[in-house]
Amino acid sequence: MKLSTDGLIIREQQTGEDDRLVTLLTRDYGVLRAFVRGAKRIKSKSQSATQLFAYGNFSIYRGKDAYSIDEAQPIEIFFDLRNDIEALSLAQYFCELAGELAPVEDDADEYLKLVLNALHMLSKNKRSHTQLKAIVELRMMSLSGYMPDLVACGDCGELTDSGMFFSPVEGQIFCGECVKDHTCIALPNGTLSAMRHICYAENAKLFNFNLPDESMSFLSDVTEKFLLTQTAKKFKTLDFYKMMKG
Ligand SMILES: [Zn+2]
Repeated sequence: MKLSTDGLIIREQQTGEDDRLVTLLTRDYGVLRAFVRGAKRIKSKSQSATQLFAYGNFSIYRGKDAYSIDEAQPIEIFFDLRNDIEALSLAQYFCELAGELAPVEDDADEYLKLVLNALHMLSKNKRSHTQLKAIVELRMMSLSGYMPDLVACGDCGELTDSGMFFSPVEGQIFCGECVKDHTCIALPNGTLSAMRHICYAENAKLFNFNLPDESMSFLSDVTEKFLLTQTAKKFKTLDFYKMMKG
C-alpha cells in the first residue's frame, strides 16, 4: 500500500551503511517512522528531501512491518537553520516536541503548520528565539489536549486581567483571593494576555504579539514549566538549546 502526504523530517538516524531511519511529521498520518533505503543511491533530489528539517511531499510504501520512502519531492529545506547553532538547537527542540505530542496515524495538519511557521520565523529571524519557544510550547500543548483554562479564576470565576496566578499543575488561573489554596506562579501584566493569545488566536495571528524582552523571557519560563509539569518528560534538545543559549 502506498501513501502520499506532505511532511517534515523531524529526526534522522543512520541504521546501516546505506540505510537511514527518519521520523516524519506528516499532514495526514501524523508522526511516522520510515526507512530511506539505499540512501546513497537514491536520486539527489530525494536525498536532500529526506534530511532533517526538509519539508516536502512524500510517497511512502507501507510494508508488512515498516514504512519506507519511495520518493520525496522537496518543498522547503530550511538550510538557513544550519548557520546558527542556537537556532538549530531550538528547531531540534520543536521537532522533538512534535515527535512526542503529535498524533500517530491521524491528521496532524495543525501541528505541521505550527512547526513549519515556527521554523520559517526562526530561519528568517522574524521573531526572537524566546518568543518562538513560548509560542510552540504552549500552542502545541493546547493542540494535544493540555489546553489550560485561562478565562477566569478556576475557583470563584472572577474575570480580571491583572493580579492573576497560574498553576502549572492544574492548568488554571486563580485570583488573589483563591490563590492561597493552590501552588501558583504570579503572572505580571501582559503575561496572561500573551498566554491567552497563544492558546486562542487563529493561526494567521498566532505570531503577532509583542512583549518587552524581560516579560518575554518570563513567559517562556512559564510555558516551559507548564509543559514539563504536564508531560512529566525530559527533552534532551531543550537542555541542549539552553546550553547553546548560555
Ligand atoms: Zn478566585
